[in-house]
Amino acid sequence: MIDQPLTLAGGHIWDGLSSTLAAGNVHIADGVVVAEPAPGARTLDLAGAFVIPGLIEGHAHLCFNAAQDWRAVYDSDSSASMLLRMAGNAQKMLRAGITTVRDLGAPTDLAVQLRDSIKAGHVDGPSLLVSGAPITTTGGHCYFMGGEADGELGIKMAVRKHARAGVDWIKVMATGGNMTPGTNTFAPQYSVEELRAGIEDAHRLGLRVASHAHGLVGIRVAVEAGVDVIEHCSFTTPAGIERDDAVIEAIARKGIIVSPTISVGYRRWNDDGRKAARADLTRAMVAAGCKIAMSTDCGIPGVPHDALADALAVVQEMTGLEPVEVLKLATSTSAEHFGLGDRGVVAPGKRADLMVIDGDPLADLGALKTVRHVISGGRLAV
Ligand SMILES: [Zn+2]
Repeated sequence: MIDQPLTLAGGHIWDGLSSTLAAGNVHIADGVVVAEPAPGARTLDLAGAFVIPGLIEGHAHLCFNAAQDWRAVYDSDSSASMLLRMAGNAQKMLRAGITTVRDLGAPTDLAVQLRDSIKAGHVDGPSLLVSGAPITTTGGHCYFMGGEADGELGIKMAVRKHARAGVDWIKVMATGGNMTPGTNTFAPQYSVEELRAGIEDAHRLGLRVASHAHGLVGIRVAVEAGVDVIEHCSFTTPAGIERDDAVIEAIARKGIIVSPTISVGYRRWNDDGRKAARADLTRAMVAAGCKIAMSTDCGIPGVPHDALADALAVVQEMTGLEPVEVLKLATSTSAEHFGLGDRGVVAPGKRADLMVIDGDPLADLGALKTVRHVISGGRLAV
């Protein structure tokens, strides 16, 4: 798809890395930012506006409806209705300035199809990285997505089938999850050996492994097995959140990425100590030098797909980081951690994934909600 070249003129530019804004124009042609204006470029006058990299959502479920009745809706879906909801949710995210989404759980064929349809320009949406159905034990967390696999051979076969289907990531459920009744969120679903078999095979096939893990014991197993990313990483035990500095240190030392799934939902938590404990945990992981990539788990009940900006404000409240440091978690830092060297910053040669907003996000992250334009792969989408 060839799109008209663009010049974004007169805005304040945040490049994804600097702690200050720059003045100047951003030129776009052939889907990327270029150094010089392209012939025939359409100029958008952005005086007073702010141009920043499009946001990256590290953990989404496009197939869920973000409401309490999610499971009944999921179970009553046809493939066609689910795929349409996924496309609609993808469009909502794009309109909120989210230009890259890692979808970490949906029926494999639907996720791959939507990714490819967006890429081909048949339907609007962010650039997707998809895991397809999470690999899980029989009856285990999110088994209903179709990724059940048991034992070392079963896990290897599941990895190979996912690779054959064309996924970008492997997602594995190292512990049970709150959304699947009958699973145990505290205990490991797989042994170290089982997880390791899947990880080795995924790496052989050029895929990295993101592991869902809530319980502290399950996190220990995932770390020992050598997963690439830990999702949630909430250190839960039957007695509450239990920070384990030795595990945090191992996560940092092994370079395992933490995708903390922090959302606007935290604001609704009663002050029963959970919120403070999770904030303490997040600060400890930042202080230990763990690689952190922003994620919200959007799609689950109470976490709308387009609420990444609110979640970034929650991260700021929890950590006390400067707005620029929080913003990097959802732009340049996420791009680096997820192996997306072609995006996450505003610079010549990089994908033209940009959002134009009316307020200064380095002064107030709330400005992320004042979306004026979104440019996705060089195309003016909003
Ligand atoms: Zn999730």
